[in-house]
Amino acid sequence: MLSCTQLSLKQLSHIVANTCSPTLGLDVYCPLEKYTFEQNQTMNIEKDAVVGITYTLKEANSGELVETVTQAQPFYFLFGFGNLLDEFERHLDGKSAGEAFDFQLSPEQSYGPVDTEAVVDLPVSAFMIQGRFAEEYVKEGEIIQKQDPEGNAMPGRVVKRGLETVTIDFNHPMAGKHLPFAGTVVEVRAATEEELDHGHVHGPGGHHH
Ligand SMILES: [Zn+2]
Repeated sequence: MLSCTQLSLKQLSHIVANTCSPTLGLDVYCPLEKYTFEQNQTMNIEKDAVVGITYTLKEANSGELVETVTQAQPFYFLFGFGNLLDEFERHLDGKSAGEAFDFQLSPEQSYGPVDTEAVVDLPVSAFMIQGRFAEEYVKEGEIIQKQDPEGNAMPGRVVKRGLETVTIDFNHPMAGKHLPFAGTVVEVRAATEEELDHGHVHGPGGHHH
């Protein structure tokens, strides 16, 4: 919680006007002892901040909307924990609630260039379910789940089904793409001890547990 001395006079008068009788003097009564600030409007984005943003991501060439996050359900994340692309965070660093952003990430700054070696031909026998080729899943353009030798999920996109092999593209769907992000910072607050401990945001827009 903030103490009165950390606030500007403008903020204090706002709080007093909204929460207290106008006859109360600032020198005799600090309203913050009874009312906590829901939003700290002066906090800038920095390490250990919880950040809420709205944004759109478009396909750079076609202008087609890829992803949209609106005010109805902003996206919340813990800043400086490597949960997001480094370059994405760098563009938001130092901003405060209400500030807009508009930038484009190159493939090198996001999901890398397309790796031609990540496009592979797998035998049809790798796509059998109960002795039968799983044609309902293995269709051109569909995303299928394979596992790497360590058992990690590896999503891949079906490029082509041949007679003996199926061509799968294991590149990230955003590989090789320029990513233009535009949006607004809607909230910046300090993370709680528990959030820092867990490495993620709790409450609205975060984990519930
Ligand atoms: Zn947690």
